[in-house]
Amino acid sequence: MLHKIPVDELGPSGQAMADAVTSCVHCGFCLPACPTYQVMGEEMDSPRGRIFLMKEVLEGNLPLDEATPYIDRCLGCLSCEPACPSGVPYRDLITPFRSHAEGLRSRPLFDRLLRWVVLHTIPYPGRFRASARLGSLSSNLSFLLPKRMQLMTAMLPQKLPASRPLPEITHAVGPRRARVALLAGCAQQVLAPEINHAAIHVLANSGVEVLVPKSQGCCGALAAHTGAGQQAQDFARKNLEAFPRDVDCVLTTTAGCGSGMHEYPLWLKDDPREADARELASLVKDVSVFLSELGPLDLAPLERPTRVAYHDACHLSSGQGVSAQPRALLRQVGNLELVEVSGGQLCCGSAGTYNIEQPETANNLGRQKAEHLYGQSQGDFTGRRQLEPVPYLWCVLFRMSGNRSRWYGPAKVPAHGRTRFGPRDRQIGLAVDVHHVPALHLCLPDEYRHPAAGLQRPGAAPERREAQGHSGVLRHGP
Ligand code: SF4
Ligand code: SF4
Repeated sequence: MLHKIPVDELGPSGQAMADAVTSCVHCGFCLPACPTYQVMGEEMDSPRGRIFLMKEVLEGNLPLDEATPYIDRCLGCLSCEPACPSGVPYRDLITPFRSHAEGLRSRPLFDRLLRWVVLHTIPYPGRFRASARLGSLSSNLSFLLPKRMQLMTAMLPQKLPASRPLPEITHAVGPRRARVALLAGCAQQVLAPEINHAAIHVLANSGVEVLVPKSQGCCGALAAHTGAGQQAQDFARKNLEAFPRDVDCVLTTTAGCGSGMHEYPLWLKDDPREADARELASLVKDVSVFLSELGPLDLAPLERPTRVAYHDACHLSSGQGVSAQPRALLRQVGNLELVEVSGGQLCCGSAGTYNIEQPETANNLGRQKAEHLYGQSQGDFTGRRQLEPVPYLWCVLFRMSGNRSRWYGPAKVPAHGRTRFGPRDRQIGLAVDVHHVPALHLCLPDEYRHPAAGLQRPGAAPERREAQGHSGVLRHGP
């Protein structure tokens, strides 16, 4: 697309934004891949439409506030990138554009307050835990709050998992095959700490030494994708200091974090630390990629045949091009049959803080995703249920935590940590997000299992876990 964007006036990201616009040939192949285009059916709610709008704003032809409703409705899911035959790097445009626009736009007071609360709590696990606890305790009074604050409190689990600090170093069990550093994440540490513990457990028992640098912070993705560019840069610089380079990889267990860390060179464009950012980004890998490169894992089979669906988190499949590895890992598990979910590529609508900022679109997408999963769980024509309960679907977990029982009809929302719809005999399975790691944990031989992970194989009675007395089983683990 031809343009007259004044690159020099737009700071370090000006050229990247202009290049992204230039590479778009306006063909429209990205439209069917875009969840908001699917929902809204409007050109301006499509990737092509947004690219044009951003170009017009950057050129000074269109007032910013005429474009912001459409730009704000972009999930940042990046589903348009793999769909684009011209390889338009949409993220190189949308992320800097949001940061650029943030400095120019005016928001209503309440929006500013909400934004401040989000950006000053979620990326900080201590603050987020305290505010989430407060929100959960006061959920009965949430009707007194403005609607969007109600949404925020409704998304909180009724009971937060206990805080479980990660060990700074976990030695490999047996001969060391690799040494990695792990990004702990922010919201994940509060809402689903078992993911990182399970990841460490799987890694250590696969011969990997795991470092969790104490001075690390949030990856910065939440800030970057909501236009808080300065805050994102600060987080990136903090992590450049915190993470060692003498490791084989820097692992992430959350799709959005991995995608964010890969963007550090973009965030720190023309910064004195840009080369450093490039080096760190080159080390970043999703845990599923690393484990699949490591070779076959020593996994015990599930106790009974279980059909499991894998949900592709957008920032893993589209943002990092990772979809085969998690499936390959799951296929290593005995008694686990992997099925594809219909509508599997559809974004769940969670997208960081999108479900707070754009609740209607988020609800629409969440409902569609749930209906695909729920419908598929009701049994195929042989009457056989297609999916079985397996504990994790991180991306949708946020959605479900916020849904209470509203969106799923007869389905119930899990209190937290377990994906469970309806009474036990109607549980439907979701499984596994990247975040399939807990599922891998379930498959580890008993002697490697660790009680603190709080996970059990489907069907395993809690008493059995007690009776096994796991203490000390994990020789060097968390
Ligand atoms: S598919 Fe790519 S080149 Fe075609 S309109 Fe979409 S972003 Fe532009
Ligand atoms: S990032 Fe997602 S929502 Fe935004 S334009 Fe691309 S496909 Fe559509």
